[in-house]
Amino acid sequence: MPNCAIVGINWGDEGKGRMVDLIAQDYDIVVRYQGGGNAGHTVINEYGKFALHLLPSGIFRKGVVNILGNGVALDLENLLKEMETVRAKGVAITPENLKLSDRASLLLPWHRDLDALEEMRLADKKYGSTRQGIAPFYSDKYQKKTILAGELLHPAHLKEHLAQLLEWKNLTLTRVYGAPGYTMAQLDDWVERYGNAFRDYICDTGAVLRSASQNGKNILFEAQLGALRDLDYGICPYTTSSNAIAAYAPVGSGFPGAKLDKVVGVVKAYSTCVGEGPFTCEWFGEEAEALRQAGGEYGAKTGRPRRVGPVDLVATRYGVQVQAATSIALTKLDILSYMDQIPVCSHYLLDGSITDEFPFPAALPDAKPVIEYLPGWKCDISAVRTWDALPKEAHAYVEYIEAKIGCRIQYVSVGPDRDSIIIR
Ligand code: GDP
Repeated sequence: MPNCAIVGINWGDEGKGRMVDLIAQDYDIVVRYQGGGNAGHTVINEYGKFALHLLPSGIFRKGVVNILGNGVALDLENLLKEMETVRAKGVAITPENLKLSDRASLLLPWHRDLDALEEMRLADKKYGSTRQGIAPFYSDKYQKKTILAGELLHPAHLKEHLAQLLEWKNLTLTRVYGAPGYTMAQLDDWVERYGNAFRDYICDTGAVLRSASQNGKNILFEAQLGALRDLDYGICPYTTSSNAIAAYAPVGSGFPGAKLDKVVGVVKAYSTCVGEGPFTCEWFGEEAEALRQAGGEYGAKTGRPRRVGPVDLVATRYGVQVQAATSIALTKLDILSYMDQIPVCSHYLLDGSITDEFPFPAALPDAKPVIEYLPGWKCDISAVRTWDALPKEAHAYVEYIEAKIGCRIQYVSVGPDRDSIIIR
């Protein structure tokens, strides 16, 4: 079984967690390579329903080693809470099946404060952050002003380093934002409560991955969010602050030499988006509410109602390209069963011309969707498990998307449960 990355093609929330949970059975290692606790991967399996924010979605599979790589925003407070929630449902989490990269940077308490303070300063121009500290965290990482997880294993060095960061960060908190600063006693307390709990989990995960690969083990790379939220290729500035694309997986995992044999791009059968920024296919009013209700489109982390609309094939084709997807998992096809006819955005209208090219972010707000309609199937498909048993209208919808985005749809998901899948 080759190495594989499971990535989002759109704005996130495509159902990646559900696909990783399914596909992890064929892999020995699942590694998260970017992002932090700011988005949720929903997984439903024999243990119950979970919204995973940091834990890799392979945590439920016996024998699978789960890794949080160096590209992750390591939020130990949230991770500890999440581990307690998952353990409470009977899932074992030990240093055997969860390993944290010693090179992952720690999301510190002030990152969340700074995220909220900056969103408040921006007021009606806010980015729509989940206020989990992700943007301040990554800015600090690239300024080399964060703590590496491995420093928790070197307490004297850690204390000195934290004191330096504290002095610097308090300048921003107090002088720029007029907010309270932190004290060393607070940081000591934070290390005691959260840092020390993870000492046994921290190791050189790069070495784990390299050795696993040499021994013929298979690695699954799990992304957070989607191509359109990628820091470099997304809808700047309404992106996340890390690279969600598959090409970053080797770097952020701790195994820069890894070769990705497969990239499974996850696409939702319609469009959803959380937060601010241009969303070309957006529906409003009753039409939007009906789709939101049908799909249960409320944020896994924030509970915010998601913005919804028809599948956007211009954005999706772009997502397939930047992800270099080798196959597609199309999720939530069952949600469209109530529609008489199914809208698709086949092109954009921009500056008086029809285009199939996804525009530069600054031009995106001017793009208008060109909508076509395909016949609906108007029956419950959630129990269907084979391609041949799907109605012909559903075949036509899937094949239409496939032709437009130029990538084979290998998986069709018709429900949230692990086995609600059609593999072509
Ligand atoms: P992720 O962040 O990409 O993992 O996606 P989310 O977890 O935010 O959102 C996906 C939601 O859709 C979750 O509530 C899943 O349980 C649910 N889901 C995934 N696939 C399907 C599907 O095929 N049908 C239905 N009805 N729900 C699905």
